[in-house]
Amino acid sequence: PTGWGLIGASNVAREWIVDAIRTQPGGEVRAVLSSDAGRGAAFAQANGIAYHTTSLQDLLSRPDIDAVYISTGNRLHFEQTIAAARAGKHVMCEKPLALSVEHASEMVRVCNHAGVVLGTNHHLRNAATHMAIHGLIEDGRIGGLIAARVFHANFLAAALQGWRVKDQDGGVILDSTIHDIDTLRFLFDENPVSAFAMTQSGRLARDGIEDGIMAVLRFPGDVLVQIHGGYTTPFSPGGIEIMGERGVIIGRDCMSQQPIGTVSVRDADGEHEIPLKHHNLYHRAFGLFTSAIHGDGRPAATGEDGVASLAIALALRESARTGREIGINVP
Ligand code: NDP
Repeated sequence: PTGWGLIGASNVAREWIVDAIRTQPGGEVRAVLSSDAGRGAAFAQANGIAYHTTSLQDLLSRPDIDAVYISTGNRLHFEQTIAAARAGKHVMCEKPLALSVEHASEMVRVCNHAGVVLGTNHHLRNAATHMAIHGLIEDGRIGGLIAARVFHANFLAAALQGWRVKDQDGGVILDSTIHDIDTLRFLFDENPVSAFAMTQSGRLARDGIEDGIMAVLRFPGDVLVQIHGGYTTPFSPGGIEIMGERGVIIGRDCMSQQPIGTVSVRDADGEHEIPLKHHNLYHRAFGLFTSAIHGDGRPAATGEDGVASLAIALALRESARTGREIGINVP
């Protein structure tokens, strides 16, 4: 069996992760940490978790916990990951791994040193849609890549209009565009070399926090990618288009937590839909992570992937702030 502790009585843990853990053979959620005893107790009861605590050391000292899932506020991920690794617990951490590349890199170093697995919960690369797109690119189905467009703007539900639009560690870039970045890194097997962005603010977010972004990433080989992200545009379709020398790959409704969407190729023979077998994205992520902690393979997105997505996301932030194209150096 694999015993899990949840660090953070969060929405994403409740909605997706408790189930993803319990779906794994031997996967058990044994404890939850909340900074608020009442919230922790309510979360534990609602989700059938036997133990709750407000003390990180208490949770980490439990021998029946092999791994932790960290989904607290973004500024807490760093210190909680370091503490968990030092206690010998494997860590599946939410994105952004941290608020600085230095902190994220330190998380990777400390987990490596402690001999524990660090994963980053970038779910989209687990989707049947993106796995199919990756295969099509790899097989050269559309020839050499030229450009891509990502559409990942929607409307932030009223219940989620908290830290995302009010705290400086919120905003579209670190919340959502960072997933697009990870997806592009996964699809292209490369890091972008530079970033340019313009942002919007004020429709839902306050204090200059961005609630919309249009960005361009330049990938090696002179490949340009355009990204639209945001919280403020109801009913906008989500998707991705990848243009190559011989055709286009079109992913529709595939920038989603849900196992939905289609992939087609449009080329000289017309447009053809690729058959897909959908599966739960989080089940796959936690399955690969569980195998990795038992010595088999790697998480879908590693700690290093989380460092890279953060470095690129922060370059977009820097570009929006300065109005300049920012060179990217992924450590
Ligand atoms: P939540 O706002 O639900 O939870 C974040 C923290 O807020 C919790 O740890 C909790 O603290 C605190 N909190 C929860 N409810 C309340 C409340 N009523 N009053 C005061 N504080 C409260 O965040 P999300 O679940 O949306 O996001 C958590 C993390 O997961 C973030 O890092 C986010 O980026 C990431 N995320 C990732 C997704 C993915 O698909 N990979 C999807 C959604 C989020 P405490 O634990 O102390 O109780």
